[in-house]
Amino acid sequence: MSDRCCGTVAVEIEQFATPQQAASGQTGNLPVVVIGAGPVGLAAAAHLAERGIDFTVLEAGDRVAASVAQWGHVRVFSPYRYNIDAAARRLLEADGWSAPDPDWLPTGAELIDDYLAPLAKLFGDKVRLGAKVSAISRLGYDRVRTAGRDQAPFLIRLADGTELQARAIIDASGTYTSPNVLGASGLPAHGEHEVFIDHALPDVLGADRDRYEGKRVLVVGAGHSAATTLLALAELENTPITWAIRAGNATRTYGGGEADALPARGALGTRLRAHVTSGRIQLLTGFFTHRVHTTNEGVEVISRDPSGHEQTVTVDRIVSATGYRPDHSIAAELRLDLDPMLGSPRALAPLIDPNQHSCGTVPAHGADELAHPEPGYYAVGVKSYGRAPTFLMATGYEQVRSVVAAIAGDWEAARDVQLNLPETGVCSSNLAEAQEQRVGLATGITGGLLATPLPLATVGASAESGGGCCG
Ligand SMILES: Cc1cc2nc3c(=O)[nH]c(=O)nc-3n(C[C@H](O)[C@H](O)[C@H](O)COP(=O)(O)OP(=O)(O)OC[C@H]3O[C@@H](n4cnc5c(N)ncnc54)[C@H](O)[C@@H]3O)c2cc1C
Repeated sequence: MSDRCCGTVAVEIEQFATPQQAASGQTGNLPVVVIGAGPVGLAAAAHLAERGIDFTVLEAGDRVAASVAQWGHVRVFSPYRYNIDAAARRLLEADGWSAPDPDWLPTGAELIDDYLAPLAKLFGDKVRLGAKVSAISRLGYDRVRTAGRDQAPFLIRLADGTELQARAIIDASGTYTSPNVLGASGLPAHGEHEVFIDHALPDVLGADRDRYEGKRVLVVGAGHSAATTLLALAELENTPITWAIRAGNATRTYGGGEADALPARGALGTRLRAHVTSGRIQLLTGFFTHRVHTTNEGVEVISRDPSGHEQTVTVDRIVSATGYRPDHSIAAELRLDLDPMLGSPRALAPLIDPNQHSCGTVPAHGADELAHPEPGYYAVGVKSYGRAPTFLMATGYEQVRSVVAAIAGDWEAARDVQLNLPETGVCSSNLAEAQEQRVGLATGITGGLLATPLPLATVGASAESGGGCCG
């Protein structure tokens, strides 16, 4: 045992050269590992390919973009012009691909078939399917050991127990596989794990129709995932629908209607409002899911609001559309600096904080904002936003362009970040409304950050002035 372990130097700091380092003197000959073959992971691969950097993409699913495939029946709100990464486009076009109509709003399935699958095909066996990452560390280093850490290769362990090494990691594993809980306080509702709950965006009019038709269905959540599911359910006959939200009204979900800068999103809210007004959908406001349990009559869902007031609804099916949260557990042995609220990199949080921003204009950001104390590890894409519900593919594409430039040592390009996003907010004379309408495309406001009254920051013109929300 070291006689220094209890002295002023609490942590053993001996120099440590890994066999890999001893052999190569550096990690530079190892590939960059990209975790996740979703839109952003594959865009990262395109940038790595363009720069001639060796890489491997590890995808947990048995197909590329396995998470997008889960919502393949849903049409996105941003047209193709925003959904295709520039480097990916260059590689695909050089291969004879014709870009889809830039104004087309693809379904998730179309996004895969017309763009992501052809892109992945270009990379051949550099994209490994069925390769679920279970943990990441640095070879020979736990989280505490410091000296020489920066030069140690990353160690990636897969669910099947195999391991590989990397010079850097771009973690684009998304959040879709870690949904938020049904319970209103961020904790699971009592009994939540004992009853069967469907997560957001079931294919109500397609593969999952039999699960819902003729059943009493409760949808919980106030984002666009909830809205999408509710509208699909409304097309089923003999299917009573209840919609439960924490807020006192559904204004935020209804969005900007005809004034919405994204017509597809505005139309969604308008249709939803009409169903609530007509009684086709029963809206329960102030609903704080507290307990669920099975009775002879069905699944009883009990709300208990902060004052203790209870309301109960009994249904056959529950769809939890309460959003997503990032799962950082695979990186538990790395040194991460996460924002305590969002779980995003700390430097990114103020740029995307939904409590502070009332417009859809996310400032350009890249490697600097995404960096952690662990050099060479970057979480990108929707995972980088943590619980902020407003991520756009276009933002992720600029992230990975910058991150790959940084990995290549091209800091000038890494720091020259630029974003040209579609307007996702609606200028409004009511700042609260503007705040509420700044919902993410399709993902909507979920996870509860905005489901209660918010302390609104004054953005641009004052709340009373009726000026533009992006001032
Ligand atoms: C219904 C819906 C509609 C949306 N509409 C729009 C829109 O209109 N416009 C827009 O810009 N954005 C939209 N978004 C938001 C966002 O752009 C998408 O969620 C997008 O898919 C995020 O891309 P990503 O690559 O970061 O993550 P994902 O697409 O979630 O991809 C992550 C990948 O990582 C894999 N993975 C997960 N864990 C592991 C692991 N441990 N090991 C290996 N692989 C792993 C998953 O299988 C998945 O393939 C929408 C989101 C949803 C849910």
